[in-house]
Amino acid sequence: MAQVSIERKENRFVQDLLSPSDRLLLSSTRDFVEQQIMPVRRELEESTYSDYKLVDEMQGKLLPLGLQGGFLPEEYGGMGLTSALTTALLAEEVGRGDASQFNSLAGGLLAMRPAIGAGNREVLERFAPRFTQEEEIYLGCFAAGEPGGGSDIENPDLRGTGIKTSAGLAGGSWVLNGAKAWAVNAGLAGVYCVVCTTDASLGDEGVALVYMEAPMQGFRFLGHEDKSGLRGSRQGGCEMADVRVPEAWRAAGPGRDAQLFRANQAFARIIAAGLAIGIAQGALDEVLAFTTDRMAAGKPIRQHTICASILADIAIGIQVGRDAYVSAAYQYDRPETYGEGHSTPILSRASAVKVFCCDAAIGATNRAMELMGSYGYVSDYYVEKYWRDAKALQLQEGGAHLARLDAVRGCYDFDQFHRNELYEHIRGGGST
Ligand SMILES: Cc1cc2nc3c(=O)[nH]c(=O)nc-3n(C[C@H](O)[C@H](O)[C@H](O)COP(=O)(O)OP(=O)(O)OC[C@H]3O[C@@H](n4cnc5c(N)ncnc54)[C@H](O)[C@@H]3O)c2cc1C
Repeated sequence: MAQVSIERKENRFVQDLLSPSDRLLLSSTRDFVEQQIMPVRRELEESTYSDYKLVDEMQGKLLPLGLQGGFLPEEYGGMGLTSALTTALLAEEVGRGDASQFNSLAGGLLAMRPAIGAGNREVLERFAPRFTQEEEIYLGCFAAGEPGGGSDIENPDLRGTGIKTSAGLAGGSWVLNGAKAWAVNAGLAGVYCVVCTTDASLGDEGVALVYMEAPMQGFRFLGHEDKSGLRGSRQGGCEMADVRVPEAWRAAGPGRDAQLFRANQAFARIIAAGLAIGIAQGALDEVLAFTTDRMAAGKPIRQHTICASILADIAIGIQVGRDAYVSAAYQYDRPETYGEGHSTPILSRASAVKVFCCDAAIGATNRAMELMGSYGYVSDYYVEKYWRDAKALQLQEGGAHLARLDAVRGCYDFDQFHRNELYEHIRGGGST
């Protein structure tokens, strides 16, 4: 009888959905992760407590794979690697080794996607060559969150009214003022895509995605966050005081920029789901190896029925999560059939898989740690690192709760501002 396996390599269903070149890229990435990242996972993280030298070297080693600029259209020197499916599968591969390596790369991808979606030639011609050269690391930054909160920027119900960073036209330039927080690659990036508003009272019509190029006058980097997990990627804050950029560096225009922003959110959530499953797979590989060698009551730990049941729960989360994100990515990539990337059904599916896969990864790493006993909690093994990385993923992209609200919007007309006459009556001091 043929052996049934959840091994990634044997997932024929997924392989059949990919082009031959994407399959090749995935397999080279898998080899890279196996040979270059897995053996130095611990050292990579240690270097984040000093000079990030190893992290930067690893980013440099990734350059020949073409991931830095591969997401750009072929006419701009990229590989046309625009599909959510291939990107999420790549994220899973890298996530199994060190998710933060992909998180840093994704900064460029997410920064440039609005310009690609809008077909903004000025932005693409200016920045694409920086990403597609393979001599040096060139990072991008998608700056949405603000010091007052990230969710109010991302919450579709608020329709851009929560954005404080302003963009105003003056003398043929956009003039940016405000502050951003928690943006990956802030202070390191060459290009920033900044989520602004031209006038918050206009709602979605006021949302403006404006590009800035470092170094620039009026820009101040505020430092990086000291995180527990995903330490190899750096998130930080910045301030803009009258930063001027060319008028053509707005991604598209009124209304369309808000759509591109939502589509980017959906895309980012699918990628986060892929990363989460990579982390969970890494933890499963670790715990399977440990519980094979480690004995309890005369037999390997994994041969105890209760432990097999826990391993089954981990494996089920991975398998179902992988199938779910593959399905969401497949639909994202076919807007003519399933709806545009910014549409409610797509944002709902993307959010659902992000929530499910992050929860699965947190559960998997937590259970793996329990099966390894005290050794699950020490840095000699990698499960505790995966555990910290999984939690960080859950907190990004609107956090655990906003993503749930976005998921449920696909089921019914959830409206957090639902008119409630009873509340208004009570607030107004009336009695029932
Ligand atoms: C590892 C990491 C990487 C990141 N990378 C980037 C990046 O590249 N670019 C960027 O712009 N930002 C980035 N962020 C920021 C991230 O997107 C925000 O953390 C996220 O949007 C949540 O914002 P917040 O942390 O300010 O939480 P808040 O907005 O203060 O929310 C706090 C909690 O309240 C919940 N909540 C918020 N609104 C509602 C509501 N209406 N109803 C119910 N619950 C609600 C949230 O889900 C969350 O649980 C990153 C964060 C992390 C952790």
